[in-house]
Amino acid sequence: MKTELVTPSAENISRAAEIIKRGGLAAFPTETVYGLGADGLNSEAVGRIFTAKGRPADNPLILHIESADKLSDCARDIPDAAHRLARAFWPGPLTMVLKKRRHIPDTVTAGLDTVAVRCPGNAIALSLIKAAERPIAAPSANTSGRVSPTSAAHVMEYLNGKIDIVIDGGDCTVGIESTIIDLSEGLPRLLRPGYITAGQIEGVLDISLETAAIASERPKAPGMKYTHYSPIARVIIVDGEPGEAAAYINSQAGDFGVIASSETKALYKTGTVVDAGSRANPDEIARGLYAALIRLDHTGVSHIYCEAFYDTELGISIMNRLEKSAGYNIIRLNK
Ligand code: AMP
Ligand code: MG
Repeated sequence: MKTELVTPSAENISRAAEIIKRGGLAAFPTETVYGLGADGLNSEAVGRIFTAKGRPADNPLILHIESADKLSDCARDIPDAAHRLARAFWPGPLTMVLKKRRHIPDTVTAGLDTVAVRCPGNAIALSLIKAAERPIAAPSANTSGRVSPTSAAHVMEYLNGKIDIVIDGGDCTVGIESTIIDLSEGLPRLLRPGYITAGQIEGVLDISLETAAIASERPKAPGMKYTHYSPIARVIIVDGEPGEAAAYINSQAGDFGVIASSETKALYKTGTVVDAGSRANPDEIARGLYAALIRLDHTGVSHIYCEAFYDTELGISIMNRLEKSAGYNIIRLNK
C-alpha cells in the first residue's frame, strides 16, 4: 500500500475523512500524540488498526468525538461528573471511560462493557472527526510497544506502506498521551496520569481522587504484559540531584545517549546529549521527550541514560511514561 503524506488543507482533511468512511486508515495530529484513525463504528476498519500497529487485540482503543454533545452517541448512564469534566477540559487531553452503548463494536472496547472517549484539542483532528461524521477510533500511530509519535515524520517511520494517509500537522503541543479517568462505576478512578493532573480533576469534581484506587499499569514482572513507549536502545533512568546524576552518567563506559534538560546538558562530558526541555517548564519536557528518545535511537546508541523529572505533577505523568520505556530500570542515587 502507498501511504500518502499530506498537508492539513481542507481538501486533504476531506479526503482523509472519505478514506475513514470507506474503512481505511488515516493518521492525524492531536495535541497529545499522532493518532491512527479508523471508523469507530466499523469493526473491520478498527481491526485494520490492530494489524497495522501489531497491537494486541485485548488492548482497547479510545473513541475521538467532535464535541461533548456526541458523548451520548458512544456512552450510556453518563454521570454528571463526566459532563462537568467535559465542560472543564474538552476539547483537551482527558479521556473518560464510561458504560458503552450497544452499537460500539467489541473490537474498540476489547469486549469490555465500557468505552473510552475523548474530544481532542487540535483543530485538524476536530475537522477530520466532523468531516467523517462518526467517532474515530484512534490509538497512537506507532508500532505497538514503541515510542509514541509526536510528528508526521515519526508516523511515516513506523507505518509507511501500512496505512492510507498521514496528515502532517506539525509537532504535537502536549507530547504525552491523555489522562484517563474511569467514571463507569462508583468513585472516579485515575487509570493513567497525563497532562490534565489529578489535582485539576479533583478541583472540578470537588472530591479527593486519593480515596479512589489508582490503578497501577505496572506489570507484576517486567515484560509480563506489554512493553510500552520503548525505543530500540535500553533506557536507564538516573534519579538524583542533577549534578550527581550527571556524575554517575559521565562515569559510564560505552556508546550511550543522554536525555538531559536545558539546565543540565552542559554537565555531560561524554555521550550524545539531547536536551528534552527546561526543568523550570515541565510542559517543554513532555513535548520533547518522545522526540528525544526517537532521535537517540536514530544515532544507533545501545543505551540511553535519562535524568528523572519527578518534581511536579506533570513530571509524575512524564515519569509514568519514562518508567515504562525503561522497563522500570531506575538507578536511585542516595536512596
Ligand atoms: P492508547 O490510545 O495507545 O493511548 O491506548 C488507549 C488506552 O486506553 C488503553 O491502553 C487502555 O489503557 C485505555 N482504555 C481504552 N478503553 C478502555 C476501557 N474501556 N477501560 C479502561 N481503559 C481503557
Ligand atoms: Mg499507544
